[in-house]
Amino acid sequence: MTHSRRDVMTIAGGLSVAAAAGAQAQTPKTIFPVAPTFIPIVGTSDLYPVRRIYCIGRNYAAHAREMGSDPTREPPFFFQKPTDAIQNVKIGEVADHPYPSLTKNYHYEVELVAALKSGGRNIAMDKALDHVYGYAVGLDMTRRDLQRAMGDEKKPWEIGKSFDMSAPIGPIHPVDKVGHFTKGAIQLSVNGQVKQKADLSFMIWSVAEQIAKLSEAFELKAGDIIYSGTPENVGPVVKGDVLLCQIEKLPDLSVKIV
Ligand code: MN
Repeated sequence: MTHSRRDVMTIAGGLSVAAAAGAQAQTPKTIFPVAPTFIPIVGTSDLYPVRRIYCIGRNYAAHAREMGSDPTREPPFFFQKPTDAIQNVKIGEVADHPYPSLTKNYHYEVELVAALKSGGRNIAMDKALDHVYGYAVGLDMTRRDLQRAMGDEKKPWEIGKSFDMSAPIGPIHPVDKVGHFTKGAIQLSVNGQVKQKADLSFMIWSVAEQIAKLSEAFELKAGDIIYSGTPENVGPVVKGDVLLCQIEKLPDLSVKIV
């Protein structure tokens, strides 16, 4: 049996209607546009779309101690920043970073960031790194006075951690170019003076462990990025300060507080 010309046109027409309906389902008509968040990827014009920003707290023993907790007993804990807290910083650029409202004690935290290309629930530790697309240098900027005040009152950290522009980040480097990061120097300088200096191997919970632990609490998905915690010697900045963040094997990230 052969299809008549009319059958073929019906089939083709049906397919195109189905395709249009599929596209429409993915991008429904909204009453106004909300900008999606992307991070550039090194070596391509393709962009990495951000779904969620997870941050791990107190993941270096010396930093846990300086924040007043016992690193030997505390399990990893997580908080989130809103997706649009991302501030993309180009390689070689010193990006203006606005001193935020309400704080008098604005702190830097340099961190390795892992960007996922896939996810799941209850991910086994030995499979966890298979979900990583790449890595970047990030800053978990913090209104320390507000974070502490809220902590003292047993209230959420949002105002101290999850505000606009609180997540400066460099471009993502795919794993197939830079590999995974289990060790290597991590350092932050202010106006040329070294403030934070440690090694990624000092993390209490590795990136693989972070993914495994996170996936017990949340279904991880492609587009989720994880700020993996900061080493000790966090500290304040004022307007005019220039921050230089360095992680071995990744290009520097630099911002000026304005
Ligand atoms: Mn942090």
